[in-house]
Order: sequence, then structure tokens, then C-alpha cells
Amino acid sequence: MGSGKAFLKEIQAGDNEMNINQLQEELDTNIFTVSFSSLGEKDRQNQVVHQGDPLYCQNCKGILNKFSNLSLFNNSGSCLQLSWNCEFCTHLNEIQIQDGDIPEKEEALYLIQSHFQQQSQKQEKNSITFCIDTSGSMSTTTEIKGKVSIKTGLTNKEQEMLKQFIQPGTEAHYLKKQKQISYVSRKQCLLSAIEQQIKKLQQQNPEKVVGLVTFNNEVVVYGDGSQQPIKFQEQELYQEVQIKTVLSRCANQMMQNPISKQADNIINICEQLQDNGQTALGPALISALELAKVGKPGSMIIICTDGLANLGIGALDSESSKRFYQELGKMAAEKGIIISLVTIKGEGCKIDTLGELVERTNGIVTRVNPEKIGEDFANIINDVVVGTQVELKVILHKALKFRREDLIKAENNTLKKYIGNVTKSTLQTFEYELKSEQELKKENIDIKKLKQIPFQIRITYTNLKGDRMMKVVTKLVQTTQNKVEAEKSAQVEVIHKRLAQKTAQIAKKGNYEEAQTYNQNWNQYLQKNPHINNNQINQQKNLIYQKHNEKLSTAIKNQEVRKQKSMCFSEIEQKGNSLKQNSEPFNSKEINNENSESILFGNSQSINTPLNKEKNSKRIDQNEYKQQKFDTPGSQSSSKIEFKKISSNTISTIDSNFINRKTNSSQDSSSSNQSDEDQDQATLYFYDKGQF
Ligand SMILES: [Zn+2]
Repeated sequence: MGSGKAFLKEIQAGDNEMNINQLQEELDTNIFTVSFSSLGEKDRQNQVVHQGDPLYCQNCKGILNKFSNLSLFNNSGSCLQLSWNCEFCTHLNEIQIQDGDIPEKEEALYLIQSHFQQQSQKQEKNSITFCIDTSGSMSTTTEIKGKVSIKTGLTNKEQEMLKQFIQPGTEAHYLKKQKQISYVSRKQCLLSAIEQQIKKLQQQNPEKVVGLVTFNNEVVVYGDGSQQPIKFQEQELYQEVQIKTVLSRCANQMMQNPISKQADNIINICEQLQDNGQTALGPALISALELAKVGKPGSMIIICTDGLANLGIGALDSESSKRFYQELGKMAAEKGIIISLVTIKGEGCKIDTLGELVERTNGIVTRVNPEKIGEDFANIINDVVVGTQVELKVILHKALKFRREDLIKAENNTLKKYIGNVTKSTLQTFEYELKSEQELKKENIDIKKLKQIPFQIRITYTNLKGDRMMKVVTKLVQTTQNKVEAEKSAQVEVIHKRLAQKTAQIAKKGNYEEAQTYNQNWNQYLQKNPHINNNQINQQKNLIYQKHNEKLSTAIKNQEVRKQKSMCFSEIEQKGNSLKQNSEPFNSKEINNENSESILFGNSQSINTPLNKEKNSKRIDQNEYKQQKFDTPGSQSSSKIEFKKISSNTISTIDSNFINRKTNSSQDSSSSNQSDEDQDQATLYFYDKGQF
């Protein structure tokens, strides 16, 4: 809960200002988060599973719970006949229930279908499959200061490559320098990270099956390392059906030995890997999926790549690739398989397309320096799956409605969401508010009588044993009509999660301006509100969050600039075409001028100009904080400087890009642009997950 108290706004009939406020965004502590960590095995063992089925309200489908208002009207043996005045919709239900089956705790667990009843359920363990890029770019080296423990030495070829960078006559200097600085290739970093994880799994999870698939010009499927590897080359890389058929025949055999037996074997294979050629990611992913399907739901695929998939099906330079990865993500999610993506900084790999695939399976997208790959692998592997095919339903009291949810009608107080796989750190955030005066009148609700209101979440999921379960959590929250009172018991970390997640979600749809406005309004509210910040703990938490928020909003600003730029390009192209059509001479100078003009116009809309900022703060002022002044003149002038700086940067980048395009040497520049964009995309994915 964003606050220990639910804020029910006082309604004053005929108040004009109230009507104005309604059009604007409400800023308050009416926020809550839903986490799924308690679905995990350990917690489950301590929980009582209810014998009977959950009892639903006939009217609103809320579920009978600890707080339900019951009165007995007949008692025949162990079966009770009760009347239940539903706490969500006030409907009067007549129910029959076994004595002792009325929930006594806030959390209640029900078994919907046992795995014994689901015959198709496989009994194998779940697995981890590493899907590893061994293309040529993986031999790119990085300087690492200080000592690093990379066991795998440089190959002869890599040593030759390094020599190119040493000026003749400076070998001594280079060697001296070598003592403090190590040069390691991406491949070395990756392999040592895999080795590290395999050793850890060997100790902590010896029964786990670990599979390996590598890709460059060919795809090599090693499985657990016990069988002869299977290779796909050339034309085979375009035959999705053939790859699937070949592997479905032998995947069982290739994924049967636990890591306790196979660790040395896999490490050996890794040490022999050579990196060269292109990046056949698509066919490798199909192969990895075939291996992962052998295990039961909760299996993982970890893709590690440093470049653009450019060979075989799913090559990202083809138009159909987006669809291909979407389908693959859907297929994996249905099987309860999580796919995570670790990309290495330096080159572009189109995170927007691959990210969608990962998101569908609820995996993690990261972008790291080569020496950090190990940390990432550990985070991914530790974030275990706790449930698959997860459906979430949230029920609010009928006086409330959800705020800022696209999926549902505004007046609705229930929300259903299909989530698919969940890990122990999966997080969902919601905002709610009081219904409008009219709506409340229509439903005959007097909020003055609502001293406390119930919230209920219902999670229907398949656990790792294959049982279909339902978990119902009901909480009763005190209400207040005094906003300050709610703010005084604010839980800022809940608001942080919501703010970051919602901002990232809006931005991921390409609505960068909207995301920035949302973010700025809420962040100012959070940082400047005297009641929320009336204690040191909240102040400190706010300060820490500030760093996250800066990262997030920088990524969004960058994306907005890119959007403006690409809009500008298509404009230029159109103009260029029409110029050509009119058979006028192609004058690049003239077009460049046009170019800078429209960029200035675009930015004045997108980046927070003093004018915009004034508008925003005015809006907040009207929102009951008249005594509060949000913008000092100083902060306005600094935002002005920022605005100027960004727009001049943009122009110079565009100019150089424009020249690059004309001289047809845009390869390097577009690759590094893609890499920067991937970085910002990864930031959005990170904050959307709310796992910070
Ligand atoms: Zn009801």
C-alpha cells in the first residue's frame, strides 16, 4: 500500500474548483503493489490449503474472506448456513460452508486441480539453457583496470589482434601497463561467467540440467554435453520446421544429465569455442526452446549476444523478424519457459524487438560491460520462476475505481490481467481513486460511513509441481477524508515502484512526452510534499530513488530526441523526393536549414521548457497545494540551459548523420546509434520490471 490509509476525497456539492480538479491528474498516495514471491515452494509449505472451493459473491464475484461480515441463520451439523453481506458490493448472499473452512488469515490458498489429474504434466526437472553468441565480434577486447580472474587465456589469434594496437617501439610501455590493466575479450568474459555459474549450480543445485547452444555462421546444439552435438548450417538455418523436427527427436536424450555429472564436460566445451562469423540468433533460439521444452515449466533460456542477429530465420534486417520473435515469445510463455537477454555494451542488437520476446516470457533484459556478465547471469538464475500461466484479478470496493489502467473502463472496480510466468521478483503496481460524485450517488454509497475498505487480489497459477492453485489475499485498509493524514503514513517505496513502472510503460509505447509529464508531476509531488517527507527514513529513500529517476528520465529524453529526429528524417526524405520530382537541383544546404528549424520546433514541445514547467507547477498548485511553491527561479533557468544544450546537440548529430547518409558511410555511426538506443531501451525494461 502506498499509504496505511486510503484517501477518499471529500466531495463538496456545487464546488466549481472541484470540477476543474477532476480534469487534472490526481496526485495522492492511493497506490498499491502486488508481488508474487509468496507463491514460491518454501512459503507454500507453511500454508494450509483450503479443502473446499472458494465462495464467490453472487453479484461481484468477490471471494469470502477473513473480514467477511457473516451472520448465522441455520446450523445443521458441520455445515453452516450463513448470510454474507458482501464487503465489496454490499450484496446479501446466502451461503453454505463447512465449519472450519471460513478463512482465518488474510491469505487463503485453494487447490483447483492437482497435477495428478493433469496427465500431460511431465515429471522432469526444470533446466537452464545458455544460448551463446560466438560470432566474430565476441573477440573484441576491453581494457579492465586492476586484477581480473579470467582463467581462459588469449588464443593466438587474439594475441595477434592485440599487437595491432601497440605502436612499434612502445612494447615495453605496453607490457608495463599490462601489470595494472588487463585486456580481455568479450568471449573470455562470457566464458568465465558461464564457468562461474556452472560451478555454483554444481554446489547449490546439483540436480539442475544445464544445456548449451552456440551460434555464429552455424548453430551448434550441445545439450547437456553428453551426446554428439548437432549442427545446423547454411540453408538449414532458414528451415524452422526442420530444426524443430530434428531436435524434438533427440532433445530428451540431450537434456537428461544433471549438472553434477556434466559440469566439467560443459566447461571443456566452452573453453574450445572459437569465435568468428555472423550471428544466427533466430535458429539458435528455436533450438534452445526445443531443449528447454524437455524440462517442466519454470525452465530458463539465457541468451547472451553482442550483435545484431543477421543470419538465418529471424535476422533482424528483415521485416518479418518482429513477428518471428513475437511468436517465439508466445510459444515459450505457453510452455512456462522464461527467456532472458544479456547484451554486451558496444554494439547494437535492436533491444526493442528482442525485448518484446523477453517481456512476453517475463524474463530480464540487461545491457552490461563484458566484465559484469557474471553478475547478470547470477541475478537471472536467482530470480527463480514461482508460477506459470498466472492470472491476476484485483477487486476494489465498489466506491473505488482504477486510475490510469488502459485495459478497463473507468467506472470499473475489478481488473483482470493475464501475466503468464512470474518470478519471485515480479511486481505489478496499481493506482485507485474514489468514483465521481455522480457514480457514487447512482450506487447509493455514502463514503462517510466507509471507515475501512477491503482490497482483494486473486492469483490463479500453476505451481512448479503442476498443480493449478488459487491464492486469495484480502486486506482491510482504514480510510480518511483528509489527504494530509494519508500522506503522513505514506510508504514511499511503494510509490517509487509505481512511478518508475508506469513511467516506463508509457514510454515503451512511444509516448515519451506523456511519460515525462507523468514522471515530473509525480516526482515533484513525492520529493516536495512536506507530509510525505516528515521523517528521515522517507527523505533518505526519496533521495536514493532520485538517482533511479534521473536515469529513467534521461533515457526517455534521449528516446524523445530520437523520435523527433526520425520524424525529421522522413520529412526531409519526402521533401527531397518532391524536390527531385520537380526536377530542381538537390540543394543539401537548403535542406539542412529546414532541418534545424523543425528540430527546434520539435524540441520545444518535447523537452521541458520553462513555459511548460510553469504550466506543470501551476497544475500541482491547484491540486490542493497552494501554499507550496515547486519551482524556484534558479531551477527554471537551469532547465533553460539544458534545453538549449540538447537542441544544439541534436542539430549537430543530425547534420553529421545527414552527411554520412549522403556519403554512404553510415555503417559505424548507425551501429553506435543503435547501441545507445539499446542502452536506453534496456533502461526502460529495467524500470518497467520495478526490480530496483
Ligand atoms: Zn459482492
